[in-house]
Amino acid sequence: MKKRIGLLYGGKSAEHEVSLSTATAVSKAINYDKYEVHPIYITLDGQWLRGPQLTEAVESAEQLQFTKNDVQENNITEFILDQGKQAQFDVIFPLLHGTNGEDGTVQGLLEVLNFPYVGNGVLASAAGMDKVVMKQLFEVAGLKQVPFVYFIQHEWSNQQEKILEQCQTELTWPMFVKPANLGSSVGISKANNIEELKKAINFAFQYDRKVLVEQGIKAREIEMGVLGNNDPKVSVAGEIKPMTEFYDYDSKYKDGSTALVIPAEIPSDVEATMKDMAIRAFKILDCAGIVRSDFFVTDQNEIYINEVNTMPGFTPVSMYPLLWQHTGVSYPELIDTLIELAIERHSEKQ
Ligand code: ATP
Ligand code: MG
Ligand code: MG
Ligand code: MG
Repeated sequence: MKKRIGLLYGGKSAEHEVSLSTATAVSKAINYDKYEVHPIYITLDGQWLRGPQLTEAVESAEQLQFTKNDVQENNITEFILDQGKQAQFDVIFPLLHGTNGEDGTVQGLLEVLNFPYVGNGVLASAAGMDKVVMKQLFEVAGLKQVPFVYFIQHEWSNQQEKILEQCQTELTWPMFVKPANLGSSVGISKANNIEELKKAINFAFQYDRKVLVEQGIKAREIEMGVLGNNDPKVSVAGEIKPMTEFYDYDSKYKDGSTALVIPAEIPSDVEATMKDMAIRAFKILDCAGIVRSDFFVTDQNEIYINEVNTMPGFTPVSMYPLLWQHTGVSYPELIDTLIELAIERHSEKQ
């Protein structure tokens, strides 16, 4: 019997467009002999719309952007409560990034509904989304990272001078300012002096109530893919070479100027240490299925972990699938493996 896959994409997030192109790519690569594909589109304003079953690849993202007129059922309460409907899916494949997609909230909903789903669970997703919590757990795991300072908006409003002082005492220039809960470099800026720092902090607070300031590091950016549940495997390493000041939103999605070098040219002992760090990061966050670990590697081959992403970019030209392709796992095979891992993890919970 074919497995019924609920493809969940779109979402009320800055990364809506990215999700649509991922869903389009998955519709092109998934094996229709093995799977029934049921699209579930979350519109930009947050409505859940179940489109008609896909029986072949869609050519463009527009075909996946259903409107209320295209669908028969669009009532989320009905969708959630009707046990009969739940049985229509064997696995949900969330292709969502950012808030309400990658942060554990959708994962929580899928847990409550008792659906097997692809990727990380509630805890790993939430902890991976919050850069401060993530870094604190990395510290517990003994993973080397750049020093950072963090604070919430309330503290910034009341103790600005003290916070600026702390940044200058504990960190050196340049500094990177980030909203705690985001991705795709949204809200991130580099500050070279105190004026830029203040501006960067105020900018980051437009996206979150918690902000972190990190010590900037001059280093290569190397990423690795992790795939698996209890015995995760690590891909070859890939290097990102942005042509811009840093790997910002436009260089990720817009101008196409960033070069990806796979496999990255790094000494084998550095690669081995990074693999070990990637596994330790995966385990301390209790990850499942899929993770991309991002590192900084200096000229002296010192390795710092920057972050993990619990739902990394997943189009065929994104780093994570490319890393696996170079490791010997094609994009369609990756989709198969992730679906199998979702079922395996769900069965362990029963
Ligand atoms: P994504 O999830 O898309 O990978 P993100 O929004 O989670 O991105 P980061 O990966 O933390 O953000 O940072 C984005 C980019 O900013 C990095 O790829 C790097 O180019 C630059 N950057 C971030 N932190 C530092 C730092 N401490 N020193 C130097 N560069 C940094
Ligand atoms: Mg990230
Ligand atoms: Mg990153
Ligand atoms: Mg992330």
